Amino acid sequence: MKQFQFEYTSIGKLKRELDKINQWRRSKVTSCVLFEFYAEDIERSQIELACEIIDQEVPDALYMGCSTNGNIIEGGLSSSPIGVVCTIFEFPSTRVKLMHYVLTEDCALDVVADFKKQLVKYPWVKAVSMLVTIRGMSMTPFCDAFTDVDPDIEIFGGGAFNPDLNNDEACVFSKVRGYTEKGVVFLLLGGEDLNVMSTFITGWKPLGREFKVTKADGCILQELDDRPAYDAYYKYLNIPNNEHFFSNTLEFPFFYRHHGIDILRAPIASNEDGSLTMTSDIEKDVSARIAYGDPWTILESIQKDGKKIAEFQPEQIKIFSCAARRTYWGDDEISKETFPFQSIASTSGFYTSSEFLKTDGYLNQHNVTLVVAALREGPKDLNVHFEMQNEQFAGKVSMINRLATFIDAATVELEKANRKLTEMAITDSMTKLLNRGEIQRRIKESVKVFEETGEKFSLLMYDIDFFKQVNDACGHKEGDAVILKLADVSRRAIKDHAPEASIGRWGGEEFMILLPGIQAERAKLLAEVIRTSFAAVDFTVAHHKTISLGVTEVCENDSSDKILMRVDNALYKAKKQGRNQIVVMR
Ligand code: GH3
Ligand code: MG
Ligand code: MG
Repeated sequence: MKQFQFEYTSIGKLKRELDKINQWRRSKVTSCVLFEFYAEDIERSQIELACEIIDQEVPDALYMGCSTNGNIIEGGLSSSPIGVVCTIFEFPSTRVKLMHYVLTEDCALDVVADFKKQLVKYPWVKAVSMLVTIRGMSMTPFCDAFTDVDPDIEIFGGGAFNPDLNNDEACVFSKVRGYTEKGVVFLLLGGEDLNVMSTFITGWKPLGREFKVTKADGCILQELDDRPAYDAYYKYLNIPNNEHFFSNTLEFPFFYRHHGIDILRAPIASNEDGSLTMTSDIEKDVSARIAYGDPWTILESIQKDGKKIAEFQPEQIKIFSCAARRTYWGDDEISKETFPFQSIASTSGFYTSSEFLKTDGYLNQHNVTLVVAALREGPKDLNVHFEMQNEQFAGKVSMINRLATFIDAATVELEKANRKLTEMAITDSMTKLLNRGEIQRRIKESVKVFEETGEKFSLLMYDIDFFKQVNDACGHKEGDAVILKLADVSRRAIKDHAPEASIGRWGGEEFMILLPGIQAERAKLLAEVIRTSFAAVDFTVAHHKTISLGVTEVCENDSSDKILMRVDNALYKAKKQGRNQIVVMR
């Protein structure tokens, strides 16, 4: 594999570089030639002219490219708007193929379906490199549609972008279909001797407490823990909602687990209603944490993961890096995190609107991340040892990293204490069943669920018969033992017959069971189990005791007060009719 990388500054320069490439090829056996264009200049005529020249000068070459937010040439940020990477594959077995589709939200699934249909025709494929325009499109369905692609095929790529972060105009182009404003180009790579590895590196680390995403729609993150999402940035980071919001929050994007891996989403704007517009989709119900990025920690990650890439001994490295990283570092510093790769192998790539990588069978859309693909033709050379330079970061820990460790440790302690407090707040200290407040809250919730979904539930309330006599005749201690035994008997009956149920201590020797999804007849069966099991217990002093039980189920126009009244009446009736029995009231 041979690579030529150059900056396209003029037609003359392009032609001279193509001459050099043609000359080099004359003395070599090559299998295929591929040009990749990264264009920070998105002028269509300029791009088409460059393509035309390739067609003329290297007619057998394939080419593809996209608009970008900056180009990586020879491991660093290129100062010129168009970067060209020419890869010449030298092994006769190596094969490449280009596919190019128009892509819109409406046809995204058809595109992937057709792509997959085509893909099976090329059993030599080992990897797919993808350039895609996003332009505000939700990419979740597109990504999810790749799930059943052969697990051995690597997929990686980048979202075409614009030099202006606030402009989502973008394009992809290729030899197959020319220039498209909305499209996706797939480069299939494979053959016996081609080896490909891909990975992703962020360097951002999660910080402190978890937030639950309680409301989200596509890339709009509406609520965290039932509060407007922006509040988290203001409260925890004191980031005001002004024109610097994006650059301020870039250091602190959201971090969450998706398909088993770490995903970052940065807020790009904060809206009037307190919602945040994120770099791409974020799902409801995930637990997200604010992550922090600091130069030391990021470079440390690059160092660590760079070693794994070096071990693969690539001949070529492609980097799809987020435009947000360029903003984060600034143009003077950004190359610090890409230069280390150039010391491993010839490195090129671009700053994207999103980075894509298939990991464990799922194609994920990343943000604020480096997706790195490494290519090699032929076996590893046992005599070559790549050494990463840039060792100056090894072993050092930044101040922010130490503070983050401190916050994490303190958060773990607080979360543990909170969990204990929450549990205490809902538990009856004597029986360890739920307390009255909690069971009441759950009944209210079940009434709401019934109103919304029609899912029925039943209540079972019971009380020990002539309990005062136990206290009077046998003492308070024996009284307590009887209450605890009833709690145990009830717990066991629920475990065996209604594991979904919630049981609480309603008062002194009164209990309440909430049975979601269960109607009165079945609730009565459980009541009978509890009644007979308790009656069978022989207490040391009090001997046999009984209980009376009331049962009811939720009905139309119920409120929690009404249903509680009904179950109480049922219990009262059971007492009045002679105790040690069950009364069902509807
Ligand atoms: P009934 O069959 O009508 O229910 O008669 P009862 O004697 O059981 O009457 P009631 O249910 O009103 O009695 C409740 C008694 O329970 C009153 C109170 O002294 C006793 N009690 C309440 N909590 C506790 C407790 O935690 N331990 C003990 N030992 N007794 C308690
Ligand atoms: Mg009683
Ligand atoms: Mg009572």
